[in-house]
Amino acid sequence: MPPISISSVIACHACPLRFYLEQEADHIEPARYTFAKQISYHLGTPLDADVIWEDVRIVAPETPDECEATVRAWVEQCRQTNWREAAECDVRVASARLGIAGTIDRLFDDEPVAAILRSTEAPEAGIYTADRLRAACLLFCINETIDPAATSVAIEYVPSGISRTCIPQPRDRRNALRAIRLIEKIRAGHVPKKPHDAPCEGCYLADHCTGTSAKRLTDLL
Ligand code: SF4
Repeated sequence: MPPISISSVIACHACPLRFYLEQEADHIEPARYTFAKQISYHLGTPLDADVIWEDVRIVAPETPDECEATVRAWVEQCRQTNWREAAECDVRVASARLGIAGTIDRLFDDEPVAAILRSTEAPEAGIYTADRLRAACLLFCINETIDPAATSVAIEYVPSGISRTCIPQPRDRRNALRAIRLIEKIRAGHVPKKPHDAPCEGCYLADHCTGTSAKRLTDLL
């Protein structure tokens, strides 16, 4: 059985039913992620919007010209912050103990030892719950393979040009562990039910989701 991806853990924590329905569906990289990712490779060095926009067009040639303004605005936001230059980018890590794996967007020599790139705006204060889970999962992997003493991860909200340090707490590790265990059950054939606190408002599956549907997304849409 392949390891569980950290993004699956986050998806299952948000809504186990949506995670179940989305299994085997094709995932297309969102444009916002492409923009943030290409900017992140340059953080810690002088940010040249021309070069970064050219990178975006090479990586995703279908990107329309109108997106250039967004990329330039995000670069401008990022210029307001002092970023560290990464020692390495896109480092695969895994936890054999928990059966999960993920990718460190930016790896550093000191704390916070890793950065998670986000293509969403930063919350007014603090860190989103889902990002705390991401940090907890990544640290499970980092503690097992790279640095047993590492305790923190930076969450880099590229559109806002803001980096916030996350030190995962027991609640975050507990939420991550529950989602991992649930994915193991789903992989074994369990069909999850709609949670009472499911984030249905704005869910693109709301018109198709019966709350107990055993059909996959490919059958629903
Ligand atoms: S509509 Fe609600 S229960 Fe159904 S998949 Fe979406 S978030 Fe989950």
